[in-house]
Amino acid sequence: MKRWLLMLLLVNATAVAESFEYPLQPQPVATDTYVIEGKTEDFSKQNGGFIVNTGFIVTTAGVVVIDTGVSRRFGEQQRAVIEKLTGKKVVRVYITHHHPDHFLGNQTYTDVPIYALPATRDGIKAEGETFNGNMYRMVGDWMRDTRVTPPTQDAKAGKETVGGHELEVIALQGHTAGDLVLFDHTTGVLFSGDLVFNNRAATTPHATLAMWLTTLDSLQALPFKTLVPGHGNVASDTAPIQQTRAYLQWLQTTLEDAAAHGLDMLEVMQTPIPADFQHVALVQHELRRSVSHLYPALEQAHLKPAKPAE
Ligand SMILES: [Zn+2]
Repeated sequence: MKRWLLMLLLVNATAVAESFEYPLQPQPVATDTYVIEGKTEDFSKQNGGFIVNTGFIVTTAGVVVIDTGVSRRFGEQQRAVIEKLTGKKVVRVYITHHHPDHFLGNQTYTDVPIYALPATRDGIKAEGETFNGNMYRMVGDWMRDTRVTPPTQDAKAGKETVGGHELEVIALQGHTAGDLVLFDHTTGVLFSGDLVFNNRAATTPHATLAMWLTTLDSLQALPFKTLVPGHGNVASDTAPIQQTRAYLQWLQTTLEDAAAHGLDMLEVMQTPIPADFQHVALVQHELRRSVSHLYPALEQAHLKPAKPAE
């Protein structure tokens, strides 16, 4: 066999072995409502970045999608799975916030309105390209041909009936500067985005902890029946909200105490994890990341003012 032909066959075999198919399995969680649950893992070449929950609501007017996942491939496969399962067209998309695992599938949906809070669109315009590049480094060719596609419509807080479902957009912040929560009053399903994590440590690269804690109180007061967190299992009670709040309170106290005692970053990163959170996926990893995101500002705030010159 000619050498070039052999090479061609080998290249083809590799392409077949790496099919880049995400294992997308929509699970019914309420009437007309499905969630495609991601793994509670960090981004990797094995999972292709499928670490996030996305959802969809099947209305008489068509399908409403909540978050488009991590890549062009994800968005395309998500849309194909949705249209095959429901036999209906997607009519609109909501993006919960500007983190890459939630919106980088947008380019599949340019023919329908993509709603997000103005702060989310601004965040995507400012940081989207950096996120996209970072994702490529972390998960590789799963990201091929992914283009940053900002939302096209400003989501306004309030209720709107779409195909028989009374949907309420609630504009919040804390995890980021723009956290959109979608509450379906018809079914009682609350899509919280990353304001709530369930048995997966909260991420904080754009967080304001005090604001986030206040936001969790308002979420807990909502009369929902089903809670779809941004990461981790779907729940039918407030336990994931309480867990997220307890973890963030511990994180805040730990960082403030450490700053008051003048600890350096490496020391804070080695803080023992309390028993309540030891089973939470990625908790050690996220503590280290949170210290690197949040500690420098706290350290700065605790530095004693310089002695005035005499
Ligand atoms: Zn996030």
